[in-house]
Amino acid sequence: GKVLVNDQLIERTEAVIDIEDRGYQFGDGVYEVIRVYDGDAFTAEEHLDRFLQSAEKIKMKMPYDKQQMLDFIDLLIKENHLHDGSIYMQVTRGTTSRNHIFPGNDIKPVLTAYTKEVERPKEKLENGVKAMVADDIRWLRCDIKSLNLLPNVLAKQEAMEQGCYEAILHRDGTVTEGSSSNAYVVKDGKVMTHPATNLILNGITRQVILQLCQANQIPVTEEAFQLEDLRTADEIFISSTTSEVMPVVQLDGQSIGDGKPGPLTKKLQTLFQEKIEAVKTQ
Ligand code: PMP
Repeated sequence: GKVLVNDQLIERTEAVIDIEDRGYQFGDGVYEVIRVYDGDAFTAEEHLDRFLQSAEKIKMKMPYDKQQMLDFIDLLIKENHLHDGSIYMQVTRGTTSRNHIFPGNDIKPVLTAYTKEVERPKEKLENGVKAMVADDIRWLRCDIKSLNLLPNVLAKQEAMEQGCYEAILHRDGTVTEGSSSNAYVVKDGKVMTHPATNLILNGITRQVILQLCQANQIPVTEEAFQLEDLRTADEIFISSTTSEVMPVVQLDGQSIGDGKPGPLTKKLQTLFQEKIEAVKTQ
C-alpha cells in the first residue's frame, strides 16, 4: 500500500526512517488513530485538533496545518481504496545526532501515516468483553497522546495473558481509564467517567458519548469513581476509536450486572451507530 512520509505519498516498501529519529530513540513524538467507515474518516477534525494540541503540549511545531492533514487523510483513503479501517498518523521531533535537548529549528519534524483495513468488532460489541484491574503506573501527562506507551503495553499484555480484552487502570483506588480506552460505570441509570484532566486521554469517542448522553437526556457526570464503584457497577463499558462503545461484562472474573451488556450501554451503542450513519449521509 501507499504511505505518507512528510508530504510524500510513497510505497510502503520505499519508506525509510533514520535510526536516529527521535521517535525511535526517545519516543519523542505524538500520534493519532482515526477510524474510517465506508471510505469516510470519522470525527477527523476532532482527531486533528487533538493531534495539534498534543504537539503543542510537547513544544513541537507541527509542519502541516489542519487542512493539509485533512487532505493527506483523504489522499491516503483514496490511494489505498480504504473502506473500513483506520489511519495511523504520527509526528516525531525529527532526526539528529542523539541528544536529549531539542534540535534546532533547521531540523524538521517527521510525519508518517498509513492505513489499515479493520473490521468493526461486531461479536465483542454484541456480547461484551472481560476486563481486569491494574495499577496505573503512567506519568502525570496522560492527556498527551504521546508515543511513549510502555506502561500501556505492559498493562495490555497482562490483560491478554489473563484472557481479558482490556486492563482498567487505577491510581490508589481511583479509576482513571483503560490501557487504550476510556472507562465508564453505570449506576442507578447514571453514567460516570473520569474528568478530562492530566490523568486521562480525553478520547474523541468519549467526547462523542458525552454529547450523545446530553442530547438524549441520559444522566452523565464527569466525576472520578473508585474501584469499589467499578466492582459494584450495574454496567461497565469502555470506549475508543476502534472499540467504539464496548460493554465489559466481567471484571477480574466477577460478572458485572447479569453478565450481559446492560441496557444503557446498548442504548449508547445504538446512538453511536446512528451517529456513524448520520455522518455518512452528510
Ligand atoms: N485512553 C487511552 C490511554 C488511549 O490510548 C485511547 C485510544 N487511543 C483512548 C483513551 C480513547 O481515545 P479515542 O476515543 O480518541 O480513541
